[in-house]
Amino acid sequence: MHRRIDVPAAAELICANHKTDRRMLVAMRLRYSYRAYSDAGQRRALAQAFGCARVVWNDCLRTRKERHAAGLPYARSAELSRTHITEAKRTPERAWLADVSAVVLQQSLRDLDTAFTNFFDGLKGRRPKSGPPRYKSKKDTRQSIRVNSNAFCLRENGAVYVAKVGDLKVRWSRTLPAAPTSLTVVKDSAGRYFLSFVVETEPEHLPELDTDTGADLGLGHFAVLADGTKVDSPRFLRRAEKKLKRMQKSLSRKAKGSSNRAKARAEVARQYAKVADRRRDWLHKLSTDLIRDNQAIYVEDLAVKGLARTRLAKSVHDAGWSMFVAMLEYKAVKCGRYVGRVGRFEPTSQLCSACGIKDGPKPLSVREWTCRECGAVHDRDVNAARNIRAAGRADRLNASLSAGKTRTKVPAQRVEAGSPRKGQTTQAGIPAL
Ligand SMILES: [Zn+2]
Repeated sequence: MHRRIDVPAAAELICANHKTDRRMLVAMRLRYSYRAYSDAGQRRALAQAFGCARVVWNDCLRTRKERHAAGLPYARSAELSRTHITEAKRTPERAWLADVSAVVLQQSLRDLDTAFTNFFDGLKGRRPKSGPPRYKSKKDTRQSIRVNSNAFCLRENGAVYVAKVGDLKVRWSRTLPAAPTSLTVVKDSAGRYFLSFVVETEPEHLPELDTDTGADLGLGHFAVLADGTKVDSPRFLRRAEKKLKRMQKSLSRKAKGSSNRAKARAEVARQYAKVADRRRDWLHKLSTDLIRDNQAIYVEDLAVKGLARTRLAKSVHDAGWSMFVAMLEYKAVKCGRYVGRVGRFEPTSQLCSACGIKDGPKPLSVREWTCRECGAVHDRDVNAARNIRAAGRADRLNASLSAGKTRTKVPAQRVEAGSPRKGQTTQAGIPAL
């Protein structure tokens, strides 16, 4: 199946391993999301499932926190499964846990385990730092349950059966490339339901190119490329974002507890969902184009970039940037391209990309400057993108040189499709060497 070369727009890779060597890839996991529609009874059943999953999560989290505070050993999940699920169902306070699928409850505990593993790995420096797992609230804007293939199936008529919920109608905006291994049912802040499937697929490499580029992600433009292209978010998206900001302001002026406030909050949630959908669609198009046209794409490491910015700018832009970089990375894996993150120590805006001399600091207002050494006239952002490309090329060359020294002829180990390693729910490849 190497005929289709387009990257699925609604798919998202759930992959944490950025250092994966693409030559060793055998399978990758992608997430496909679809809108689902439910009747009143199903909404009640789902609300109950969301609630039970949340209670199991919170009960188990509380026990682990209390154990930790008391200096006792970490509570193993087998023990928590027994005390907080199996035995809890027999108590009057938790008897209603028996009304929902046991798979939902077990998965909630497994997800908590993963959250703890990620937290501990962050502390040990094995992955980006994240906070400890937090309690879930009934008021959280996003409610979800996750089930494996024991608790859901696809019907001939296009519906999706979920255990103890029933057949949900689905708008299949694209076909699933293979049988899904897990399903997350999500209710978003605007009250919409989505089914998000995890599917295993093989990478479909594009013909190799000899082009590469660097991208400077900035506040003035969304991205500026090394060839001088400046990419701005489209007008419809900026308009929708502006409208959202206006609605948020008007919401904050409404009296607390009033029905007007409740109405305004629902409207804000709907608008927020709309903006998020449009932004994601646009980022998908942009990242697909870049991956199609370039063999290698270099971007700044956002963790490094983040140090230089204010809180406000961070909150507005980081979500979009990190989503964009994540899309580039999984599409690169899928299509046989390379995406490199450049951790820079020297400000890219001060370095002349033509001769490499450091020209000294420049206030943000300076958009164009002339190198005092070689006389090159630079657009500030394009120059930065070229420096990122140069640093990325150097990193990649170094990596391939050192890999060449240590590489042995051990064949990549295959992981059986559909059998994730324990505690590792998703992966894009197998670093087998
Ligand atoms: Zn110069």
